[in-house]
Amino acid sequence: MENNMETKYSFVSQYLFINFLNTINIKKITAIDFLEEKRGIDDWLAFLESQEVLNLQQVEKLKSSPVEAKELKVFRDQWRNYFSTDQRDKSSLNSLVAHTTKVPLYFNKACEPIPSKGGTEGLLALLSYDMLLALQSGVFEKIKKCESSLCYAFFVDISGKRKWCSMEICGNREKARRHYSKKIKE
Ligand SMILES: [Zn+2]
Repeated sequence: MENNMETKYSFVSQYLFINFLNTINIKKITAIDFLEEKRGIDDWLAFLESQEVLNLQQVEKLKSSPVEAKELKVFRDQWRNYFSTDQRDKSSLNSLVAHTTKVPLYFNKACEPIPSKGGTEGLLALLSYDMLLALQSGVFEKIKKCESSLCYAFFVDISGKRKWCSMEICGNREKARRHYSKKIKE
């Protein structure tokens, strides 16, 4: 895993699927798709394990078969579109049920879900399960896109007042930008 992994992502969410939506972002003005990078998926899985979003058992299961970036990107971009609009198409929720039916999950002693199959299908099932739980607990309505024009990240806005995915990165950058543009006008 790269040393700069921590700074690669603007923040780490407790939700697996939010971290997945955020596998694309702007770095130095250009959009970078982490899934397209060499070893991108392996690095992402290892990073989430280090952040305890995924456990070792889940990661080992997922890695037992090949994970295809192409299929994952279709899923990610579909859900990025879904959360980008206020007119959310409820029919797309059926696909989440379909993924978890195709690859059933079982639960370990800590009650954590482990997909019965690894690879792309296993990851899609685990992501779908995570999303169905979030949907049921009302988290979907609180998902927002970061207001920074230089950031693609989604986050869960619990308070209803949050504007940025991370105060440390996007909040401070935006504050600095506003301060600077104010100075120019003066
Ligand atoms: Zn942001």
